[in-house]
Amino acid sequence: MIRQLTLRWFCVNLPRMIKENLQLCRQRIAQAAEKIGIAPQGVTLVAVSKGLGVPIICEAIDAGIDQIAESRVQEALLKYSPVQAYAAEVGRALRWHMVGYLQTNKVRQAVQIFDLIHSVDMVRLATVIDKEAKALNKIQEVLLEVNVSSEASKFGFPPQKVFEALKEMSGLKHVRVKGLMTIAPQADNPEKTRPYFQKLKELRDSIVCSLSAVSCSLDILSMGMTEDFPVAIEEGSTMVRIGRGIFGQRLK
Ligand SMILES: *Cc1c(COP(=O)(O)O)cnc(C)c1O
Repeated sequence: MIRQLTLRWFCVNLPRMIKENLQLCRQRIAQAAEKIGIAPQGVTLVAVSKGLGVPIICEAIDAGIDQIAESRVQEALLKYSPVQAYAAEVGRALRWHMVGYLQTNKVRQAVQIFDLIHSVDMVRLATVIDKEAKALNKIQEVLLEVNVSSEASKFGFPPQKVFEALKEMSGLKHVRVKGLMTIAPQADNPEKTRPYFQKLKELRDSIVCSLSAVSCSLDILSMGMTEDFPVAIEEGSTMVRIGRGIFGQRLK
């Protein structure tokens, strides 16, 4: 009985909740963009749907989402075909983002479905991506994940290693580095995350000054999640990755 009531509650309220959440996210993106004098279109909103089922993702598509992020290749593979089929049916094109840790033995499948891989954290991973992308005749767009907070628990290049890594990757013809990504430390107050976003932007800007050496443009700064995306935008984010802020609390 409780189960049925819960299910019914979700069926009735979920589409509305997602639409309202999304509207609120877009408003907050617009406010943050206005604060620093950029157009809100300069910030791409990526919906992180890890842990959520296909019907919920389809609701988000109905609500206007066209960028979907997953953090596990296996999970993404299960959802990819039905979600793509739904998007095609309603005449929409999606872009798929990989935001979680990527093992080299999952690269082949990742390259098959993802438009942008945010989590390249080793040169060796990039070389495997290059090999698999070549086999598919694809140029795989990627971001380099940077561990700006130097937390031992986090993946990502140490900031001082990024330039060297870019140089090493510049020979990979089937990998295109589009920018940098970071995950700020958990904080009770989003203001505390500001220095980390500033660091990523400074790092990007310092590298851009010597770009001819690494032949890429680093236009994308993927930073900001549910708790901290307005601060990230104020500090130069061009891509925010929002899960709970759109879908509500994860049921895990
Ligand atoms: C889960 C996840 C997000 C979204 O987190 P929320 O706090 O739910 O917005 C963003 N980026 C990465 C890398 C994630 O794993």
